[in-house]
Amino acid sequence: MAFRLLLLPGDGIGPEVIAEVERIIAWFNAEGARFEIERDFVGGAAFDVHGTPVTEAAMKKALEADAVLFGAVGGPKWAGVPYDMRPEAALLRLRKDLGLFANLRPAICFDALKDSSALKPEVVSGLDIMIVRELTGGVYFGEPRGITTLADGERRAVDTQVYTTGEIRRIARVAFELARKRRNKVASAEKHNVMHSGLLWKEEVTHVHATEFKDVELTHILADNCAMQLVRNPKQFDVIVTDNLFGDVLSDEAAMLTGSIGMLPSASLGNRDAKTGKQRALYEPIHGSAPDIAGKGVANPLAAILSFAMCLRYSFAMAQEADLLERAIAQILDDGYRTRDVMQAGRSELGTAAMGAKVLGALDKLHA
Ligand code: NAD
Repeated sequence: MAFRLLLLPGDGIGPEVIAEVERIIAWFNAEGARFEIERDFVGGAAFDVHGTPVTEAAMKKALEADAVLFGAVGGPKWAGVPYDMRPEAALLRLRKDLGLFANLRPAICFDALKDSSALKPEVVSGLDIMIVRELTGGVYFGEPRGITTLADGERRAVDTQVYTTGEIRRIARVAFELARKRRNKVASAEKHNVMHSGLLWKEEVTHVHATEFKDVELTHILADNCAMQLVRNPKQFDVIVTDNLFGDVLSDEAAMLTGSIGMLPSASLGNRDAKTGKQRALYEPIHGSAPDIAGKGVANPLAAILSFAMCLRYSFAMAQEADLLERAIAQILDDGYRTRDVMQAGRSELGTAAMGAKVLGALDKLHA
């Protein structure tokens, strides 16, 4: 069966790192996989060509694809475009129209890079946690919201944290299902001590656990304590499930445990269609378009390539292939090859394309 991939490289280093992903896809195709690739502009690149950050035609392709591989969008060139036309608006539209409510952010510390973390190597060595962030609800979308001027001239800002049982249950299920394929542990982070939404969150996660996932170990943790524990002893966690706001903060914190932004992939998943079994999905590195290094050929392509590994695992159930790709990357790092962002004394520095070529070489060797 052929799988349809839509590549949206975007701006800045986006096209540079997605070009390396394309070479990896071609490698898997040469080994018998059947990935069909479509491409389109997104972000500033789409604005320059079409006057909008994402066209209806690109949206249609995204809705029809089996998975979307996204590079990055944005940059100073588009600082002055109207608010609705800013490059980042494309990503929000994609998340909304594809119904991508679950954001999966792994924080994995490659052994060879344990010295790049701000934490002691023994604290992060072997780290492998997954943060599952609710992405389409909560305080970033809740109504009422806005800034008003009061009668006495003071200004007042309101944002509303809203969650329904359905929203909480579906994200909890994603977390429990993931845990079953990992170390079988879920920590649910909220603030039930001071927020009603936190109380409902805790009750609903408990309900989903008791009725569907009793085999998985569930703990509840206050989000502020979770932030502390992530730097104190991150290896206590397997899967952490949390809301949009806390997930935004906790996933960035967890990301930094691993050393470099150029190494970190992510996946955003939607509902699984009961009839077709198809689940909408978008995969992207967590980094942005890095205008400071764009065009220099020094961007680290590994976050984008690891995002494709997540795509193999979660969209196409190709776990062996995903493992192979992740092992190839670990091997290159063990062999001392680094892009500039993770460069260390005594190692060999490679540019973007040379790093992509090393991954292909390692795939050849491991597969032989
Ligand atoms: P950034 O992630 O683009 O860059 C932060 C720093 O990390 C820079 O010094 C950059 O050179 C470095 N870096 C990032 N990715 C790297 C890689 N793969 N290899 C080596 N170094 C890398 O964040 P920023 O500078 O805050 O934002 C730049 C632009 O990207 C902005 O327009 C922002 O809005 C946009 N952005 C887009 C996304 C997205 O498309 N999902 C995410 C974050 C930021």
